[in-house]
Amino acid sequence: MYYSTGNYEAFARPRKPEGVDAKSAWIVGSGLAGLAAAGFMVRDGQLAGERITILEAGPIPGGACDGIEDPASGFKIRGGREMEDHFECLWDLFRSVPSLRTPGASVLDEFYWLNKDDPNYSLMRATRNRGEDGGTEGRFDLGKTAQKELTKLFLARDEDLYDKRIDEVLGAEFRASTFWLYWRTMFAFEEWHSALEMKLYLQRFVHHIGGLPDFSALKFTKYNQYESLILPLVEWLRGQGVRFVYDTRVLDVRFDITAGTKAARRIDWEQAGVPGGVDLTDDDLVIVTNGSCVENSRWGDHETAPEFDAEVHPGGTWSLWRSIARQDPSFGRPDVFCTRPDETTWESATLTTSDPEILDAVERICRRDPLSGRVATGGIVTVRDSAWLMSWTVNRQPHFATQPEGTLVVWIYGLFMDAPGDHVGKPLCECTGAEIAAEWLYHLGVPDDRIAELATADHCVCLPCAMPFITAFFEPRRAGDRPDVVPAGVVNAAFVGQFAETARDCIFTTEYSVRTGMEAAYRLLGIDRGVPEVYGSVYDVRALIAAAARLRDGQRVRLPRLVSRRLDRTVLGDLLRRHELV
Ligand SMILES: Cc1cc2nc3c(=O)[nH]c(=O)nc-3n(C[C@H](O)[C@H](O)[C@H](O)COP(=O)(O)OP(=O)(O)OC[C@H]3O[C@@H](n4cnc5c(N)ncnc54)[C@H](O)[C@@H]3O)c2cc1C
Repeated sequence: MYYSTGNYEAFARPRKPEGVDAKSAWIVGSGLAGLAAAGFMVRDGQLAGERITILEAGPIPGGACDGIEDPASGFKIRGGREMEDHFECLWDLFRSVPSLRTPGASVLDEFYWLNKDDPNYSLMRATRNRGEDGGTEGRFDLGKTAQKELTKLFLARDEDLYDKRIDEVLGAEFRASTFWLYWRTMFAFEEWHSALEMKLYLQRFVHHIGGLPDFSALKFTKYNQYESLILPLVEWLRGQGVRFVYDTRVLDVRFDITAGTKAARRIDWEQAGVPGGVDLTDDDLVIVTNGSCVENSRWGDHETAPEFDAEVHPGGTWSLWRSIARQDPSFGRPDVFCTRPDETTWESATLTTSDPEILDAVERICRRDPLSGRVATGGIVTVRDSAWLMSWTVNRQPHFATQPEGTLVVWIYGLFMDAPGDHVGKPLCECTGAEIAAEWLYHLGVPDDRIAELATADHCVCLPCAMPFITAFFEPRRAGDRPDVVPAGVVNAAFVGQFAETARDCIFTTEYSVRTGMEAAYRLLGIDRGVPEVYGSVYDVRALIAAAARLRDGQRVRLPRLVSRRLDRTVLGDLLRRHELV
């Protein structure tokens, strides 16, 4: 496998790999990573779909990429996906997946047209004082020390950041900045998280710095990502003959490890409670999703707080990864990620309402009609003086194809689990849906005497979801904690998803899952075409200058006269001036 960039490789079709007709693939986990691996094996590896089996513990595909109407309780989304144009592997996949709604179009076409017609941007990035403008005014407010620290982090080598926390490299001045407010709420970073990951994010998205304050950097799907991404992908894979087997918990993949090679020889599973499995030869390829940010996620309801269960249970993804990791050091160290739930937890909630008073309060903040069908909040609105550091968002409505006209689906989340709420006086993790609704209404600026009534199930339904491992991948780490997609010496197996190692890309993205799926397929089948490299804006001097200018909030750099003269009439000088950096 090799990386490439540009149209030559992007439009080329690889030849059928030698020996592919004899291969079979067993994919563990039907999240985006597993589905992508199947998609690339079929499209680029030309492996017959009938020879691919996806083993999934749950009753439906999609994993973290969810969105469901639960007949008993209502609409549920654990999250929404901020996306961008440089999800190179993801768009490479979805250009081939037919849309379920627009005849003749791909999922990429549909997404492209939608975001052209209705570009995303926010008119109110943050609030304070119960619904007033948060006063961020598009600034980053980074002082001199903060700018210095951020630049140092941006330039640091990976190995110098191993096991380091963000607050070890970025000090109090940085953490008081508006930049950090945008950043942490947009990506869910906490100060104890990995400084390495923070650096990778900075580098990976440096071309988006200018679009951070108003979210013009972001793009969104039409509906929730289960309906807009997972369903068409699954439908397409099924049409290719790929087999989906649900209610099947893979317990172990057993390897035969000799001096030079590591070969997967057996998958053990439990299907509807009955033990089973399959023996493997070198022609049987195994692709394992190791680790999941939504493992043990638990729903509460309007009247009940969700249960917090951070135990590693047999049959889950952590316990599977532990069993595999015990067999060889190159298979990673799952306990780095799954043993500190107090550092990896937060909670979200899905609120559904058609109440005119609540709709009015939302409209006052998003400054658009939230039911127009077009961009509403345009990304999250952060309540900067909320004790929970609450953010909430209204995506284009309807957010579900089956959503009744006039209803609004809102996604709410809080980053701080333990602080008592400003209105309800309880920590987020102890709150029922009604209490979360009340806290949200309070911060929207709904009058005190209306909050209690509007938060009842007669006016809205709020369904909270606890996710004890949601930021497990942000735990400080070092080389070897995550296994390579195909670890050294492995002949017929790969790791995919948010806990497999690939160069330069950022976890907590749909792209990361698709990228690892693509790399697994290309490596295991020997597909001879470049995997698109991570977008190279970090090596693009134009992007760097533009970002530097924005991070200084427009304050120009004073160059010594000699340097200034040298830059005169040069391409670099022109660039610096165009971006008003000098
Ligand atoms: C709240 C939230 C917000 C997000 N925001 C964004 C965003 O803004 N932008 C963005 O790009 N991405 C975002 N993401 C990330 C993105 O959705 C995920 O990273 C991606 O969907 C993960 O896919 P995956 O296949 O790697 O893992 P998962 O989706 O976790 O899939 C793992 C699958 O394996 C199954 N499984 C587990 N154990 C076993 C077993 N023993 N046997 C068989 N099957 C098993 C699980 O049931 C699951 O289906 C967000 C995710 C969440 C939850």
